[in-house]
Amino acid sequence: MTLLARYVAIASLGLGTAYSQSNAFLYEGARLIIGDDTPVIASGAFVVQNGRITGVGLKGSVQAPSGATRIDLTGKTVMPTMNNVHMHVGYEGYTSWSVENHTPENVLDHLEREAFYGVGAAMTMGDQPAEFAIKFQQDQLAGKFPPSARFFFAAGLAPPGGGPDSLLITGTTPLHAIYEVSTGEEARAAVRKIAAMKINQVKFWVDNRDNTRGSRKKMPPDVYTPLIEEAHKHGMLVHAHATNLQDQKGVVKAGVDVLVHTVANEKIDDELVALLKEKKPYWAPVMGLGDVAEICEDNNQFVEQVLPATVIADVKAGKTWLPSNPCSAPPNIQRDENLKSNFGRMVAAGARVVLSTDAGVSAKYSFGFAEHHEIGMYVKYGMSPAEVIVVSTSRPTEVLRIKDTGTLAKGKRADFIVLNANPLDDIRNTRKIDSVYLNGVKLDREALQAKFKKASVTGTR
Ligand SMILES: [Zn+2]
Repeated sequence: MTLLARYVAIASLGLGTAYSQSNAFLYEGARLIIGDDTPVIASGAFVVQNGRITGVGLKGSVQAPSGATRIDLTGKTVMPTMNNVHMHVGYEGYTSWSVENHTPENVLDHLEREAFYGVGAAMTMGDQPAEFAIKFQQDQLAGKFPPSARFFFAAGLAPPGGGPDSLLITGTTPLHAIYEVSTGEEARAAVRKIAAMKINQVKFWVDNRDNTRGSRKKMPPDVYTPLIEEAHKHGMLVHAHATNLQDQKGVVKAGVDVLVHTVANEKIDDELVALLKEKKPYWAPVMGLGDVAEICEDNNQFVEQVLPATVIADVKAGKTWLPSNPCSAPPNIQRDENLKSNFGRMVAAGARVVLSTDAGVSAKYSFGFAEHHEIGMYVKYGMSPAEVIVVSTSRPTEVLRIKDTGTLAKGKRADFIVLNANPLDDIRNTRKIDSVYLNGVKLDREALQAKFKKASVTGTR
């Protein structure tokens, strides 16, 4: 279907227009995982009207308007949709990765993939030209697109020629997506420019990417300290990409709001722990991209259901745009040990984990299925499934600064996932998706899947 035809199809569903009273729904009998510290309701009910939750409680205790459609969810589990504070939209084409793929249609495709897997909102991190991102967000808000994850955006800052890794930079450079700054004054000026566009999130890259070929310039503290200060003056949240211990200490000390990445090459020390205890930043661990990919497993249907067979074969054969074959890399036991130790210590110190994936830089770890892998890692490294659901549903809304989603509560948007099994028993049960609802509307997951399975955009590999 063309984009225009889809707009028409969506208009006929009545999206963006007021629902009548008869468009009330009573969902009954499911286990309800609320998404914050509220206890689970073993047999619950909730009412949805005009895309909002208007009542939640025990089955039998929730008043529904007369004429409400009753939907029996006995045996199911309902949780809020997940929210992701760190991914990269636009460039991934599945048969290619390229700046030529970067179109509104492709950004929408990525957000539809997020929604397919139960993600309600996702933020792309410092990789889009601001004007493009603002326009896309406005169009989505105006109801011009089919249902998909809500789009959020942080503007990116880096030293000239620095910042994104060797792949992402091939997309961001021709689009002039990054604000390049060499001094504190330049950083302040760029932040003021970004603030004037009413963008309330910024990201900066601190390290020199010395893990990739050809090292880039670092952003020193005398640039990022004024950057953070200026951003805070304008009420913005600041995310810092920092992958080594020294840099993590530096940015936490300087008052960054969201620390991005986990130190993987060594165990963190008491000094970082003390800083985390003092500052309690949000923390986007983004650990899964470095794992052996699930796509390398034989017949992993959860991943394969959204990818063309050619893409799966190419990734498995190592014929991708990655520097090495992700399927022939042996598991990195030392990295895994470091992550486990660091994850536990950082959480105990008070770093506030928020769901984050880095999806969008590799087909092996892409939109939607990456979230489920990532939350599996949180459990593997010691977090309880109940806590994992909080850090992937309600807590990211604090970073995204949206109050209307993230829990199953009266007044919230009806953004929820219906599951065939209980993720509190086993976090992998978040994968047993029966259906996904965004703003009260059930996604047509079959139609989406059929679309995804076809090779999408074309471009150069
Ligand atoms: Zn990233």
